[in-house]
Amino acid sequence: MSGRACLGCGAGLGEPFLDLGAQPLANAFVKPEDAARRDPRFPLAVAYCAGCHLVQLTETAPPEALFGEYLYFSSYSDDFVAHARAMADSLVERFRLGPGRGVLEVASNDGYLLQFFQARGVPVLGVEPARNVAAVARARGIPTLARFFGPDVVEQVLGELGRAEVVVGNNVLAHVPGVNAFLTAVRDCLAPAGAAVFEFPYLGELLERTAFDTIYHEHVFYYSLAAVAGLAARAGLEVFDVARQPVHGGSLRIFLQHPGARAVSPAVARLRADEAAAGLTGAARFTGFAGAVDRLRGDLVSRLRRLRADGRRLAAYGAPAKGTVLLNACGLGTDVLEFTVDRSPHKQGRLVPGVRLPIRPPEDLVKEMPDVTLLLPWNLADEIVAQQAEYLRRGGAFLVPVPAPRLVRGG
Ligand SMILES: [Zn+2]
Repeated sequence: MSGRACLGCGAGLGEPFLDLGAQPLANAFVKPEDAARRDPRFPLAVAYCAGCHLVQLTETAPPEALFGEYLYFSSYSDDFVAHARAMADSLVERFRLGPGRGVLEVASNDGYLLQFFQARGVPVLGVEPARNVAAVARARGIPTLARFFGPDVVEQVLGELGRAEVVVGNNVLAHVPGVNAFLTAVRDCLAPAGAAVFEFPYLGELLERTAFDTIYHEHVFYYSLAAVAGLAARAGLEVFDVARQPVHGGSLRIFLQHPGARAVSPAVARLRADEAAAGLTGAARFTGFAGAVDRLRGDLVSRLRRLRADGRRLAAYGAPAKGTVLLNACGLGTDVLEFTVDRSPHKQGRLVPGVRLPIRPPEDLVKEMPDVTLLLPWNLADEIVAQQAEYLRRGGAFLVPVPAPRLVRGG
């Protein structure tokens, strides 16, 4: 036993099934003047709770260290914004949102999602802990509280919006160590027949794709439906529908309600059965994962080092959090890769934590023409390959690392 208690049910937690060692914070992009400073590092290891099926980090980093200056602006991915628009449209129709039937978004980022509700006349309120990101949302005219969502925010939400017909949270449920109190606060903000809709990376996909780079300090939990159903019940909520989503390399969208508010979709029992069959509710499924991760890392590193030894120029594309994890876990620094590029001007000019890879604008890919470019946001590979047609046309190639290293060439 690791001596730690499960953050869901409180039972003793077993040994981690994957331990990546002490790693820098994935989104703590370094200013050039701080390049010589040591990165704060925290242990990065995940364990499965046999009591409630919840997969979780064995240690959590302090939230102030994680979210003080957050550089992830959702609006910098075209795919993600298109996904947000489709999500807003479907929720407006399904839950008949409109005047007097509002939406609360938890971790509303820069307003990438609420803007689409607002455009359709739905009252909106965002709660976003990163002050710089909340300020961007407010400047766009989206009412946003710059706070961590939890029980102490409920009163302010009820005062400003009233009970929400829809509470939505994309990529937040995995981030909150105090998930029981968080879900209780969600319940308290939800109208009697309302729906709380959460989207998060799906544990089933993480295992199938060996997507170990989606494991980082911000992500405290890696959810199966089975684990979410247990947490929801503890908070006095019920899962009434579920759907798998392609975004972020495979996510789950779950719908929660006050128990009995409407009939439960057969999709819930179906996915529960699939999960049991896939071994997501037993410790055995997790024991082989570390070996699969080692094989992927070994393949990737040996391919890149061979190319480098042959005199090829190598770079990376993107500076997503998962890129920081992958580069550090593989020890891929400036001795192998010259630089990376990213569309976000907030990241350009900075360095990737740990490995210190410089982040440059995307135009530099065609200017420099590296022979092979490691594509770090592999979940957006199609979008990026299409945007970088010119780089491929001139003979460049992308190496997509997950689920297994794969070379993408033009034409
Ligand atoms: Zn547990």
